[in-house]
Amino acid sequence: MIERTLSLIKPDAVQRNLTGEILAMIQGAGLKVVALKMIHMTKAQAEGFYAVHRERPFFDSLTDEYITSGPVVKMVVSGEGAVKKMRTLMGATNPEKAAEGTIRKKYAVSLEANSVHGSDAPETAAFETRYFFSAFEIV
Ligand code: UDP
Ligand code: MG
Repeated sequence: MIERTLSLIKPDAVQRNLTGEILAMIQGAGLKVVALKMIHMTKAQAEGFYAVHRERPFFDSLTDEYITSGPVVKMVVSGEGAVKKMRTLMGATNPEKAAEGTIRKKYAVSLEANSVHGSDAPETAAFETRYFFSAFEIV
């Protein structure tokens, strides 16, 4: 089934000029980019995006220091089983546990600064896509 998922190239990767490399890996996996924009999130926008994690010990650092530290590239990615495909391509949250050939294994610098985001389920993908894009911005 053709699905959509929401992905971010996070500040650590944008800052190191890895946007092109990461987009090439996504497209190389057979996924299609159907919406794309660079933004610099405010603290409020970051808190809304990561609201499910608000009770977690890493929430303040994640929203206040890391994800708002510089621009991110937000995108909607489409394809057969896109949610799972994107998660597999990203690798584990902790780059030390990420499989060879994954984006996080290749580029992540720490558990927090792990270079990419991808929605973890179709329902999450629907929420996150609507959070960042209007229907008119998705081709
Ligand atoms: N994160 C962190 N410390 C942790 C777990 C997560 O800093 O112990 C950060 C990391 O940037 C991660 C994000 O919070 O990507 C969201 O966490 P989640 O568990 O949803 O991981 P993901 O879905 O991104 O793999
Ligand atoms: Mg997650």
